[in-house]
Amino acid sequence: MALPETTPTQAPAEVEGYCVKCKATRKMTEVQIVSTKNGKPAAKGKCPVCGTTMMKFLSSKTTTG
Ligand SMILES: [Zn+2]
Repeated sequence: MALPETTPTQAPAEVEGYCVKCKATRKMTEVQIVSTKNGKPAAKGKCPVCGTTMMKFLSSKTTTG
């Protein structure tokens, strides 16, 4: 068993993102938590209406300012 263990971070049930195609805020489908280049978490999903890939950056609660 040399398979790499790919356990994704638990995705939230519902994440709202902005669809650039619909130009509207939609609730993403197939939400996955990914890491950006900066190492910050982001939610990646698809627009339920047009299927465009959507990304939403998850802000940390420990930000000051
Ligand atoms: Zn859309």
